[in-house]
Amino acid sequence: MNALIAENLAHVQAQIEAACLAAGRTPGSVRLLAVSKTWGPDAVRQAHAAGQTAFGENYIQEAVDKITALRGLPLEWHCIGPIQSNKTRLVAEHFDWVHSIDRLKIAQRLSEQRPENLAPLQVCIQVNVDGGATKSGVAPQDLPALAQAVAALPRLQLRGLMTIPEPAETAAQMHAVHAQAKALFEALRRQGLPLDTLSMGMSADLDAAIAEGSTLVRVGTAIFGKR
Ligand SMILES: *Cc1c(COP(=O)(O)O)cnc(C)c1O
Repeated sequence: MNALIAENLAHVQAQIEAACLAAGRTPGSVRLLAVSKTWGPDAVRQAHAAGQTAFGENYIQEAVDKITALRGLPLEWHCIGPIQSNKTRLVAEHFDWVHSIDRLKIAQRLSEQRPENLAPLQVCIQVNVDGGATKSGVAPQDLPALAQAVAALPRLQLRGLMTIPEPAETAAQMHAVHAQAKALFEALRRQGLPLDTLSMGMSADLDAAIAEGSTLVRVGTAIFGKR
């Protein structure tokens, strides 16, 4: 198992690098977030031993147990799952990043509950680019107001956007939805928000996401195996 996780990580890193080169981007301009949801502390330890430092989690309580068990390691923890109001304190106290901000109330609670002895919580706003009706994420037309409000919260630092597009039928559709996210990101930057993180791309759409300007891709299965 140990060798396998290291091998998988090397493979995904090589794929990211190839996608960067194909898109005329600097290798190293795209970070890999290893999504370790459902996997135990040992799998994370193995990935860390292979050089991985940033880990993504969806389920808050499961993540908090893991973060606590691995306290001795210099890891960076990213919350990428939906957050209920009654879970904001756990998130504020344990994570370094949150990608899944989709309403102001959650952001306000995270800011209020972020402990003083920790750095500001680094956050992205989840945007529903392709308009899936039942999906979480703020609608594109509501994004500018939410971004300005989140950027003003004292204990949060707004870093960018996250998207989770529906599986696309064609490569062209996949590129189009990522290009839309990139355009929203650039529009916010033009409004003066100093954003540097576009969290988009998973195993299936990694190449398209990188071609369209992703700065962080989130990969689970290709590193840890099938859940
Ligand atoms: C689970 C998950 C991933 C990783 O998905 P894999 O198919 O395991 O690579 C990425 N982003 C989010 C938001 C997820 O929930």
